[in-house]
Amino acid sequence: MKAVYISQYGGTDVLTCGDRPEPEIAPGEVMLRVRGSALNRLDIGMRSGRGYQGPLPRIMGCDVAGEVVQISPDADTNLSVGDHVVLDNRVKCAGNCEYCIQGLDQYCPQQKRLGVDLDGGHAEYITAPAINAYKVRDDMSFPEAASLPLACHTAWHCLVTQAQIQPWDEVLIHAASSGVASMGIQIAKMMGCRVITTAGVDWKIEKAREIGADEVINYRETDSISRAVMELTNGKGVDVVFDVVGADVWEESMLSLKPNGRLVITGVTSGARTEMNLSVLQGRPLHLMGSGGRSRRTFGDVMTLVNRGELRGIVSQTFPLEEVAEAHQVMEDREFFGKLVIES
Ligand SMILES: [Zn+2]
Repeated sequence: MKAVYISQYGGTDVLTCGDRPEPEIAPGEVMLRVRGSALNRLDIGMRSGRGYQGPLPRIMGCDVAGEVVQISPDADTNLSVGDHVVLDNRVKCAGNCEYCIQGLDQYCPQQKRLGVDLDGGHAEYITAPAINAYKVRDDMSFPEAASLPLACHTAWHCLVTQAQIQPWDEVLIHAASSGVASMGIQIAKMMGCRVITTAGVDWKIEKAREIGADEVINYRETDSISRAVMELTNGKGVDVVFDVVGADVWEESMLSLKPNGRLVITGVTSGARTEMNLSVLQGRPLHLMGSGGRSRRTFGDVMTLVNRGELRGIVSQTFPLEEVAEAHQVMEDREFFGKLVIES
């Protein structure tokens, strides 16, 4: 079958579009004819070998949507051949580790990621445990479906599970145009929050408002995001900061929070190391939270909202399999809003 894979780590030139063996369905699994797989920062990390060192060759693509073409006879599932589904990226143990037994599968130590530890979705076919496949509405396009699983689940996990946003919260979400942040804006609005976000160019500012942001700070035109936040909140600061950027905004995030505010971080694209002024914490009781694994239950919750039409995938551009390298370049150049999707 046609697939995009890497045999070594490096720049976009290591992405090879060629032939790979079709996967064989294992007990408990479904096979999909892949129709779309979205790019994530995880793909860039995997390709470059920064932070991810799985065995090679590996078919790329962490976010997958497609059509069910085969179901293992012993799979315990309500799915039928022909169903349109998305895949939960994390494949967990058979349910017998100490965490999964307690229903805390987000902490399963044996979890493997599609497109990193297992072959991914930049291919014509993929297999995955039936429990990882969730049905989506037939009228949703495959690129939109593919744009949702990782971005939507990550944003939901950070804002709802971790930071526990409430309707009265004011929330600062950095980098509106990123896939996770653009879903975060929609989720925070849906939950009734007032959403402040950041962007660096006019067309992204406009788009951020279109998807629900109440206020957009142009970070290129302000020397202090936290000062802009204070101006927008009558000097009080925000209840929650959702950070997909990392080092570049860390200090500004701290200074944007109200006393007792919550910060949740899931991305470090601008760098993972920073100096921290500990007196900020001495002066104000802040809650700093990481992201980490996500549960099957919250994946089901968020897909219910997707199927109800409450949350929409934002597809910036689609590419054929042969142009995955170009898509990686667009992602690294950050000239897009939402998600880049590879069609197989
Ligand atoms: Zn487990």
